[in-house]
Amino acid sequence: MCTEKIQESLMRTFICILLLSFTQINIYSQEKRVHPIRILVITGGHEYNKETFNEMLKSLGNGFTFSIVEFPAAFDMFNPENRNSYDVILFYHMWQKITSQQEITMADCISGGKPLVVLHHSICAFDDWEEYLHITGGKYFHKPTTINGVEYPACTYIHDLHFTAHISHENPVTSGENDFELFDETYKGYYVEPGVKILITTSDTTSTPVIGWTKMYGKSKVVTFQSGHDTPTFQNPSFRKLLRQAIEYVTK
Ligand SMILES: [Zn+2]
Repeated sequence: MCTEKIQESLMRTFICILLLSFTQINIYSQEKRVHPIRILVITGGHEYNKETFNEMLKSLGNGFTFSIVEFPAAFDMFNPENRNSYDVILFYHMWQKITSQQEITMADCISGGKPLVVLHHSICAFDDWEEYLHITGGKYFHKPTTINGVEYPACTYIHDLHFTAHISHENPVTSGENDFELFDETYKGYYVEPGVKILITTSDTTSTPVIGWTKMYGKSKVVTFQSGHDTPTFQNPSFRKLLRQAIEYVTK
């Protein structure tokens, strides 16, 4: 084959590869655009009002679908073969029992790029697994607990309080939100990991001041809200908007 023909053949191959790449990118971006955000909701270990909680999830709109799986069955969802069946994890559980293999698989799934939104009593889960507080960025202590050599006393909670949530930082999660009133349960004395980006605070003295934050865990964005005990918060338009914007933010 003469040099000219070799060059022509190489050029054709190059153009073919280029066209194939563009087709793949196009298919991929279309897939990303057309399907709704699939939320894997993980519950278990704490009762809640399923009817009004599911109404809140439905209120997110047509851009979202959700499936609810309870622990311990939900541990399987972190296995590599199941990770493509959802786009984002929503924690609404207070599960405690976990094996070392389950710890490794869950941490790998989230740090590897599966985004997470954490609600309310989910910061009270997995008391004996320290890495969990690095995933959520916060931890309620049921018993005195030592973190980095500092001992923290057990936390406290109070139900049915009216208080104000202050938007402390403008970002896509809090975009368009003003300070708003909540009727919810507060927790006091929980740990908030240094370095999280604070989104929402309260000056209510029964609560730890920081009640909403975001952080990275490995490759994943994580957003955590302390609020969300029961129906009044599930039905709160500002909270619903925060939840929707948090899910959109972590999946982008
Ligand atoms: Zn609660």
